[in-house]
Amino acid sequence: MTAQIIKGKEVAQEIRTALKEEVSGLKENGLVPGLAVIIVGENPASLSYVRAKHKACGEIGIYSEIIEKDASITEEDLLSEIDALNENPDIHGILVQLPLPKHINEKAVINKISALKDVDGFHPVNVGNMLIGDDCYLPCTPDGIIELIKRSGEDISGKHAVVVGRSNIVGKPVAMLLLQENATVTVAHSRTKNMREITKQADILVAAVGKPNLIGAEDIKPGAIVIDVGVNRLESGKLAGDVDFESVKEVASYITPVPGGVGPMTITMLLRNTVEAAKKISK
Ligand code: NAP
Repeated sequence: MTAQIIKGKEVAQEIRTALKEEVSGLKENGLVPGLAVIIVGENPASLSYVRAKHKACGEIGIYSEIIEKDASITEEDLLSEIDALNENPDIHGILVQLPLPKHINEKAVINKISALKDVDGFHPVNVGNMLIGDDCYLPCTPDGIIELIKRSGEDISGKHAVVVGRSNIVGKPVAMLLLQENATVTVAHSRTKNMREITKQADILVAAVGKPNLIGAEDIKPGAIVIDVGVNRLESGKLAGDVDFESVKEVASYITPVPGGVGPMTITMLLRNTVEAAKKISK
């Protein structure tokens, strides 16, 4: 069997085209969705993510601001900056690019963002609402993963989903969303024993680890849907996922590539959350 490739880039483009139309309609009614992205310090990867978000906003008509702060900013000053954005009526979504310098408490920063403007879905109020299935902003990467699986046309309900990785931004929330879609969910992590025995049971396998080619064909149940979240820069400069794409695509039924799979969906879900935030706040 050769798997069908889930083309995240194309799905993301479809959603962005629809969002662009929606934003244009909102603008006709005087509402311009606005996103503020705060970046602290000069981490090159963070800078490139922030610029990509800014560009994506521009392409669909969302107003966006990048607020660059020196790495020496105090936590207090950063919190005041967030307070001002919480009060700013032109800004509907606020995002602080992580990681932050060590002297700043990330939790305090996330907690400071108004839950209504937390378009990353990291605020404990949104995380709690996600857990109980209430209205909230979903974290972008997990939301994008669910969207990709659904758009493959396959039903999630009743399937055994195995998530490898349990971070707060990917592994745990995607496990929770799969559960809400009525999958039976197993979460594996660095202390899991006999991981292959577990991954081989997966009808849906989500790999969110950060180790290039950790998952090979021998770890996969034939016909599984394989979602590769990993983004790993190899010494050659090339990007690789957590899944050995070439061998796994011969066993799986669907597979996401890296790049061009989950990655483009993350920013797209951020755009969608920002549009939703504008609508909610202006009500
Ligand atoms: P993270 O916070 O480092 O978490 C990695 C998880 O993998 C941890 O739960 C860890 O277990 C687990 N793990 C480590 N080694 C393992 C092993 N040998 N077997 C099984 N589990 C293992 O990473 P993250 O933020 O979730 O990101 C994961 C990957 O996704 C990274 O490559 C990241 O770049 C990528 N990512 C991509 C996007 C996107 O938009 N495409 C977005 C976010 C992240 P413990 O908890 O036991 O330590």
